[in-house]
Amino acid sequence: MDRAVLDFANLPFAYQKTDQNIRFWFRDGKWSAGELTADEHIPMHIAATCLHYGQEVFEGLKVYERPDGRIQTFRSIENAHRMQRSARKLWMEPVPDALFREAVHKVVRANRRFVPPYGSGASLYVRPLLIGTSAEVGVKPSQEYLFLVFVTPVGPYYKGGLTPVRLLVEEDIDRAAPGGVGDAKCGGNYAAGMRATLPVKEKGYAEVLYLDCREKKYLDESGSSNFYAIIGKSFATPASPSILPSITNMSVRQIAKDMGLAVEQRPVSVDELPTFNEAGCLGTAAVITPVEAITYRGKDFVYAKNGKAGPITAEMYKRLTAIQLGEAPDPYGWTEIVSEG
Ligand SMILES: *Cc1c(COP(=O)(O)O)cnc(C)c1O
Repeated sequence: MDRAVLDFANLPFAYQKTDQNIRFWFRDGKWSAGELTADEHIPMHIAATCLHYGQEVFEGLKVYERPDGRIQTFRSIENAHRMQRSARKLWMEPVPDALFREAVHKVVRANRRFVPPYGSGASLYVRPLLIGTSAEVGVKPSQEYLFLVFVTPVGPYYKGGLTPVRLLVEEDIDRAAPGGVGDAKCGGNYAAGMRATLPVKEKGYAEVLYLDCREKKYLDESGSSNFYAIIGKSFATPASPSILPSITNMSVRQIAKDMGLAVEQRPVSVDELPTFNEAGCLGTAAVITPVEAITYRGKDFVYAKNGKAGPITAEMYKRLTAIQLGEAPDPYGWTEIVSEG
């Protein structure tokens, strides 16, 4: 394998053209065989339901090169299941487990030379996308769907590794309307948050931290990752109908439990900000990113001093990334080999 000539150690979290993407079409009640193509564009009807009515869902997962040179996925079946839930929510045709798995495996193998080398700190991000493609002008579900998976090598989403970041509690802007699409990874959720996120980045914050839409009293999550706090010997993470159920969070809850922490999924109030010993963000892109400080109503609550993550965050990070990268045994059966070399 001739690896792509890229500065893997300094990759941004951004789109980078690779060799191929894979496409499956749902027509006449069945899915087509997968087609690998180098084309980065899709033919689209001007009245496609994805454009007008938001029949669009996507996923994000990563594959990693292990120390032995093999390539593995991390809990990709959970991404398949979440995408099915999202699809049902928006009355779209769900992608079956086997098709999702075949798509991920084939597209990763077709782009093997873009998988960042072990030790580079980068990984291959896999982006499955499902859209309604048939023409409708009344509010109706599409008859036809396109399931497409592309990959792109990426570096860290925030500062990388265990470098802490700052968050600002957002009180005025709701990302998703209450009673909205909730757990679906779909366009509307993110577009509505951009006007909150972009201005705070200019002030040196990594992200906003949203509050629940109803009472503006409980922490929800940031724009692209879940949130947790360490309070004494507890790992606390918000329970809320308006956050994305993160697979990273689910994994870290298991790891925290195995480290002897009490795991609490419950409403976490802004009144508790002074009680946190550590805090962090959780997600495929964020991995575990320590929070340096949270600003709420002009006051800074500091959780990481001198750019150093707290000890519990550091241990959770070590255990999670060792499994993802294939450095340590995987006692939970979370990983699957996609390519032998
Ligand atoms: C993707 C995402 C997460 C993290 O989910 P993972 O399954 O861990 O990648 C959290 N919040 C939002 C809004 C997301 O889009």
